[in-house]
Amino acid sequence: MTAGFIQDELQALRSASLFRRLRSVAGDQGPTLMVDGREVLNFSSNNYLGLANHPALGKAATAAIERYGCGSGASRLISGNMTLHEELEIKLAELKGTEAALVFNSGFQANTGIIPTLVDDGDVVFSDSLNHASIIDGCRLSRAQIVVYRHCDLDQLEHGLKHAPRSSRKLIVTESLFSMDGDEAPLKEIVELSEKYDAMTMVDEAHATGVYEPDGAGFVSQLRLGDRVLVQMGTLGKALGGFGAYVAGSAALRELLINRCRSFIFTTALPPVVMAMAIAAVELINSEPERRRALRNNCARVRDGLASLGFSLGDSRSQILPLLIGNASECMHLSERLLDRGVFAQGIRPPTVPPGTSRLRITLMATHTSAQIDRALEVFASLDKAIERNDSVLR
Ligand code: PLP
Repeated sequence: MTAGFIQDELQALRSASLFRRLRSVAGDQGPTLMVDGREVLNFSSNNYLGLANHPALGKAATAAIERYGCGSGASRLISGNMTLHEELEIKLAELKGTEAALVFNSGFQANTGIIPTLVDDGDVVFSDSLNHASIIDGCRLSRAQIVVYRHCDLDQLEHGLKHAPRSSRKLIVTESLFSMDGDEAPLKEIVELSEKYDAMTMVDEAHATGVYEPDGAGFVSQLRLGDRVLVQMGTLGKALGGFGAYVAGSAALRELLINRCRSFIFTTALPPVVMAMAIAAVELINSEPERRRALRNNCARVRDGLASLGFSLGDSRSQILPLLIGNASECMHLSERLLDRGVFAQGIRPPTVPPGTSRLRITLMATHTSAQIDRALEVFASLDKAIERNDSVLR
């Protein structure tokens, strides 16, 4: 059998400046990282609150391994449903203010499983054009008709809802805080449309969980929309510093997922150590609100600093700051130049973002110090001259 297509594919990716390689990262996931053997400032992590390297998570992990061993041994529906899974689910439901919660092995698995559980052939799913790949794949797997509406465009969403067959089940799915643009969905208006047209709403809070005031529950909760959104999902791998994901909603939704959701049913349960870390993380979300404040202050400092250098950051008001470059090759070149100067700000290219919108995705942590931020801004200022020719997209 010939596999010549592999080399052809790789060559095509290289020619389009879309070839990716894994960077080797050593040390823990703090504000500084060892990347490819060099210490750099880390502005490319989703460890927004600094919990991935918090000693409380390490302590909880060690204790859980001693008490429960390493593996869960089976899927949740066989013998893998350990007490720690249920303890975490109770804590997550409390945090989210919902009747119930269910842990998934990852956000990707959650999205690809939940959507096909809710809609099927003959139904319609409405998906924001900038939704994450896992949502896109979930929509595709569902076999429902997919209506992609322009990013946050309520008129287009309403037009689609109005024209969907009356008898079909309808599902609107959106991120609350968009992963690559750092902007927010108009959730209140989306929920109002869902009620007007009798549609279900599913919100991906992957980047909002842990971060939003007043209590870290997320954007849905901040807007007090919890009772009007059918599905809230989020991950445990970003602000919560560990791994895995959750769905929060009604007890009936939880039961339906346990019975029908293939990516929940047909996989080995997460190890107890991962649950213990997440329990510790949820406790820290409650007990250390100053981390959210520190993150917010750091965001303001970097946003203001970059704005005063003349950089445009789109509609982001969050810890995700997209510095739009446009061209993929130019974007990766800039990312490498930053890295050479000690700042890790990953270039993001298609297919993660739409063609022509490659960007440096700068992400902040509560644990960045003022000195680290000032140093990064100095490096960005030194790049300024080099990217002036991209004037139109940068400013
Ligand atoms: N949803 C969004 C919006 C994401 O950015 C991610 C990122 O990884 C996921 C889902 C997948 O979550 P996980 O990393 O837990 O698989």
